[in-house]
Amino acid sequence: MQGKTLPFSKEQLEKIIEKYPTPFHIYDEKGMVEYARYFNQCFEWNEGFKEFYAIKAAPNPYIMKILRKEGFGIDCSSMAELLLAEKVGMRGEEIMFTSNDTPAEEFKKAIELGAIINLDDISHIDFLNETTGMPDLVCFRYNPGALKGGNIIIGNPEDSKYGFTREQLFEGYKKLKSLGVKRFGLHTMVASNELDPDYFIETAEIVFDLIVDLHKELGIRFEFANLGGGIGIPYRNEHRPVNMKKVSKGIKERYESMIVANGLAPLRIYFESGRAITGPFGFLVSKVLHLKETYKKYVGLDASMANLMRPALYGAYHHITVLGKEDQPHTNLYDVTGSLCENNDKFAINRLLPEIKRGDIVVIHDTGAHGHSMGFNYNGKTRSAELLLRENGEVVQIRRRETIDDYFATLDFDGLKKFDV
Ligand SMILES: *Cc1c(COP(=O)(O)O)cnc(C)c1O
Repeated sequence: MQGKTLPFSKEQLEKIIEKYPTPFHIYDEKGMVEYARYFNQCFEWNEGFKEFYAIKAAPNPYIMKILRKEGFGIDCSSMAELLLAEKVGMRGEEIMFTSNDTPAEEFKKAIELGAIINLDDISHIDFLNETTGMPDLVCFRYNPGALKGGNIIIGNPEDSKYGFTREQLFEGYKKLKSLGVKRFGLHTMVASNELDPDYFIETAEIVFDLIVDLHKELGIRFEFANLGGGIGIPYRNEHRPVNMKKVSKGIKERYESMIVANGLAPLRIYFESGRAITGPFGFLVSKVLHLKETYKKYVGLDASMANLMRPALYGAYHHITVLGKEDQPHTNLYDVTGSLCENNDKFAINRLLPEIKRGDIVVIHDTGAHGHSMGFNYNGKTRSAELLLRENGEVVQIRRRETIDDYFATLDFDGLKKFDV
């Protein structure tokens, strides 16, 4: 089995499990930091380049603190995410607020923090103007419609609820000008989990092209192009990570032929990538509770889709390592399940694995994005802890596991005593 490896040894993980019972997610700081540096380095040519980490991937302030040190900003889309940014001490233009169907309080909070406001719809210009007044700097989210094919997670741009049409962009920026807005950005995000480098180069081309046309027609200068997220990760052994050097080179060529050539430089390139930043560096660690044989063979874990719902939600593949059995023949066909009363509570279906025994430790790979964060409490399952494996081998608990008291905290049992039926 080539490809997928673990950032910890069997002995090391067994020690961690003695202290922190399974299931838990554990993140590899070293891997994350190395990737963050690689990402920044790829775009060194662009002055002011910035990646705004899409915090929804793994909304943990410890992770944000690590990434901020690498120069990353934060991409928020809700009140809780803005408050998390504030808790980490982030302010101003290191916060990108890319929301949709946005409540007024969230715009207020974003403006109070000095965040860059990225509007999802033309009607939000008036909404913002009426509720908070216009900030100096405004960005619009573009939906290229039929110009660009989507993919399975995000769907077809024409069916997507996000963003402005091309015509609305022209109308919208004109309106911003008339409202006294002086600084402008343009954003688009049409892919999710995309592995083809050309896809991102084409996206840049579409955005640069628009920036040129908007400048010609409205005379406005753009400060930045936010190329969104959507950078895929190699969930499968046979996949390769997106070559960001190649992406960067393609974008640079277009930057020169379109932006520089039209006198529109400097233009800062922004990304708001989430999955690529933390996804490959998270692992869901779980123990085998039961083995079951009926029409098929089942491995029952102490984790469930409440800890990781991607397989059930999208049929997503997550690689599985049975700790210490990496080199044994993978000849047993299993469904790997959780304990929810839902038949789609499966981490893998018809997966060839080594022979599994009760008590084996099963590590599910690439859970660092949309893993713990998509967790839910169905069947009264409480969310797991999140641990951080530091570069020096130390382990820090960056979120404790939920207790049953947390789960019951919103119920009024005193009220129940007085409640007559
Ligand atoms: C989810 C999201 C991102 C991050 O997407 P990834 O696929 O995790 O890179 C960025 N921007 C917006 C607006 C998003 O909704």
